Amino acid sequence: MRNTLYIVVPCYNEEEMLPITAKVLLKKLDELKAQGRISSKSKIMFIDDGSKDKTWEIIEKLSDAADAFTGIKLSRNRGHQNALLAGLMTAKDRCDITISMDADLQDDVNAVDKFLDEYEKGAQIVYGVRSSREKDTAFKRNTARMYYKTLEHLGVEITYDHADYRLMSKEALEGLASFKEVNLFLRGLVPMVGYKTAIVKYVRNEREAGESKYPLKKMLAFAIEGITSLSIKPIRFITFLGIFVFLVSVILLIRFFVIWCMGKAVAGWATIVISIWGIGGLQLLSIGIIGEYIGKIYLETKQRPRYIIEKDLEL
Ligand code: UDP
Ligand code: MG
Repeated sequence: MRNTLYIVVPCYNEEEMLPITAKVLLKKLDELKAQGRISSKSKIMFIDDGSKDKTWEIIEKLSDAADAFTGIKLSRNRGHQNALLAGLMTAKDRCDITISMDADLQDDVNAVDKFLDEYEKGAQIVYGVRSSREKDTAFKRNTARMYYKTLEHLGVEITYDHADYRLMSKEALEGLASFKEVNLFLRGLVPMVGYKTAIVKYVRNEREAGESKYPLKKMLAFAIEGITSLSIKPIRFITFLGIFVFLVSVILLIRFFVIWCMGKAVAGWATIVISIWGIGGLQLLSIGIIGEYIGKIYLETKQRPRYIIEKDLEL
């Protein structure tokens, strides 16, 4: 029995890119079917993440034209991670293997063959890792590097330079399904699922059409999400900071006491003002960080759905 593969592609306002992407992916899928590597029931699944343009119409047309295309439509925009999860969770009941990739063909489609090689060798999760970041701007490259290093220091297990281009088997997806958190950072969550994993290197291309749906603001929010949903070290850091600041104040107190005993007057204006501002700033920062986590807890306790599927072309 050959394995059924679903290629899962989240799309948000991708009307310019979709026709090109669909063509490239279909060619790849047909090739793999012809080689007998995947079953004829394998499909390409597009997830419309509440697009405002013609994305869903294009997906419907594609699925009318060829059996290999299918799609689901979310009831509104929920962001890349939720859209991806919606696709993976829907696909897992219909196939044996999923491969997730972006709609803009930045992930090299030809790496799919190597993904399947690794799967056939027994890996349940295969991470696509960029072999170079030449095509990215220097800014994106450097901030990304710094970010991965920070995550590492915070004790988060993450695959360096891996975005969300990866193969996951049905078993691995069942594992992922048991993580119920609302604050999603999939690339940090997937390593927690376990199983045998492998890495495939590929060169990341430039986006061919349309523009990035990740402006700086979204990127920053995503970066903070990654840290706060996977690590509690920042809170611990505040505790140590508090202890440190307290110790410093004790030392200062002793020092001033000694000076006072020696009968020398202290003109302490600068010291007082600096400490008020210093401590005040630290407190605000600390409350802010704690607030981030309380916000997370608040959202988790609500247990809101992570996505709502409005339409499913296979039902
Ligand atoms: N995307 C999505 N929902 C969003 C934003 C983006 O489904 O709210 C999809 C988008 O269509 C693309 C993928 O996520 O398939 C990655 O987005 P993009 O290529 O714009 O990000 P970048 O490569 O610039 O980081
Ligand atoms: Mg992109």
